[in-house]
Amino acid sequence: MSKPESESEPTPDEYGTAQSESEFESDPVEAFDDAIDMDLRSGADDCYKCSTCDTSCPVAEVDDEFPGPKFQGPEQWRLKRGDDHDIDPSITDCSNCMRCDNACPSSVPLSQMHNTARGEYVEGLAPSLWNAEDAIADGEYREALSYLGDIPAELSIEFVRNRVLSNYGTMAGLGSKFPRLTNFVMSNRITKEVNDRLLGITGERDFPEFADQTFREWWRERGGPKVESADKRVAYFHGDYSNYNTPEVAKAMVRVYERFGYEIRVPTQRCSGTPMFANGMLRDARRAAEVNVTNLGDFIDRGYDVIASCTSCSMALRQEYPELFDFEETEKVSVHTYEALEYLRIHEDLEGELRDVKDVEFPDLAYHAPCHARNQGISTQAVELLSEAEGFEIEDVGDSCSGISGTYGWKTEKYDKSMQIGEDMFEHMRDAEGDTGLTECPTCAMQMGHGTGYEIRHPLEVLEAALVN
Ligand code: SF4
Ligand code: SF4
Repeated sequence: MSKPESESEPTPDEYGTAQSESEFESDPVEAFDDAIDMDLRSGADDCYKCSTCDTSCPVAEVDDEFPGPKFQGPEQWRLKRGDDHDIDPSITDCSNCMRCDNACPSSVPLSQMHNTARGEYVEGLAPSLWNAEDAIADGEYREALSYLGDIPAELSIEFVRNRVLSNYGTMAGLGSKFPRLTNFVMSNRITKEVNDRLLGITGERDFPEFADQTFREWWRERGGPKVESADKRVAYFHGDYSNYNTPEVAKAMVRVYERFGYEIRVPTQRCSGTPMFANGMLRDARRAAEVNVTNLGDFIDRGYDVIASCTSCSMALRQEYPELFDFEETEKVSVHTYEALEYLRIHEDLEGELRDVKDVEFPDLAYHAPCHARNQGISTQAVELLSEAEGFEIEDVGDSCSGISGTYGWKTEKYDKSMQIGEDMFEHMRDAEGDTGLTECPTCAMQMGHGTGYEIRHPLEVLEAALVN
C-alpha cells in the first residue's frame, strides 16, 4: 500500500534546512526546576548498603579520593532530608558511565541521583550566568544586564572547559564549516598545548577530525530517503558525532536499513544531552531534550520508531530523559526508541542474511560493549549476531569500562585515570585474534583506537560491507 503523497513528502525540517546545524533554536524553557523537585529520597531508602555499586565503579577503582556511587547517590539524598546539605564537589568526578545503575540489586536510581546532584552542584557554580541566559531567553534584557557584572567572578576555567566539552555540537557546528582548516588547527601541537595548559583539555589525544561533508549535508544532497514504506518506518537520531565526525556510520545505517526496505527520516535534532548530563549542565540538556522530544514525538505519531546508532544517545532518550524531564512526549519517545542494531535484530532475520556471507571486509573483530549498552541489555548483541555468521571471527574483549566515558577522558586531570581504567580493555584487545575493533559507542571507539592503534568500526559498517556493498 503506498502512502498518501502528503505523508511521503519530506518536510524541510527533516532535511535540516529549517534550522542551520549550529543554530538549533527552541522556545525558552523553564530549565531544571522540576528535575531537582523530583523526590529521590524514597529511592535512597531502597539502598541497603551492600556496596555492590562501589565495587562496580571504575572511577572508584583508580581514584582513591572518589567516595563512590553509594555516597554520591543514596547517602547524599538521605542527608538532603535535612535540606541544608550541600552537594559534595566530588560528584563532578563521576563519569556517568552508569555501571552502578546496572549493578545495584535494589534498583536504587543511582544515575538519576548523580545527574540531579551534579546539576544542582553546577547550578550553584555560576547562578548569574544561568539567570542571565534565562532572562535573555524570556526577552528580559534589562534583567539579564543586571546579572552580567557577577558572571566573570563566578566563572572558573574548569566550568568554562566543562561547558565547552558539554556543548560539543555547537563547537562542531562551527568547526565543520571549514573542516580542513579546523582539522589542521586542532591537530597542531601548539593548539594541543594551549588547550591542555589553558583550558584543561588533554593534549594527549588527537582531536577527532571533522568530515568534509556532514551526514545531514549528504542526506540533503541525496534528496532524503530512497525507500518509501507504509509499515517499515524509522526516524534516525544520528547525534552530533555521526553527523560531524563519522558520517560513514550514519550512511551505513541508511544503506543497511534501506536494504531491508525501511523508510528513513532524519528529524531536526540536537545533542542527546549525554555530555551535558556528565558535566552537570542540566539546563543545556533540558533545552536540547525539548527539541528532540518534540520532533521525535511528531514522527512517532506518524508511525515511525526512533533508532539511534550511538548507545549513549539511545540511553539518553530511553532512560535519562524520563528520569530528569517531564515534557509531554518524553515517555512516548522513551518507549519507541531503539539502538539501530537492536531494532534490526528484532524485526529482521539478520542471522539468516549473514549466515552464508563469506567474503567479508572485516573478518576478525575484537568487540567492546559500551557501558551504556549494558544498561540497555544489548551488550551481547554484536557477538551473538556475528559469531553465528560463517565469515566472521568475533571476540568479546571483556566487560570492563573503556575509561573515556564521553568527556571524562578528555579532561587533563582525568586523562591518566581514564587510561588506567581502559587498560583492561586494551590488554584484552591486544590478546584477541581480531585486528579490527568493534563497538557501538563513538567515544569508546576513540579510546580503543587511542589505546591500541587498531582500526575501529561500528557494527553498522560491518553489516553494510557484508550485506550492501
Ligand atoms: S548497590 Fe544499591 S543497595 Fe547496594 S549499596 Fe549501592 S545503592 Fe545501595
Ligand atoms: S556512574 Fe560510573 S563513575 Fe559514576 S558513580 Fe556510577 S559507576 Fe562510578
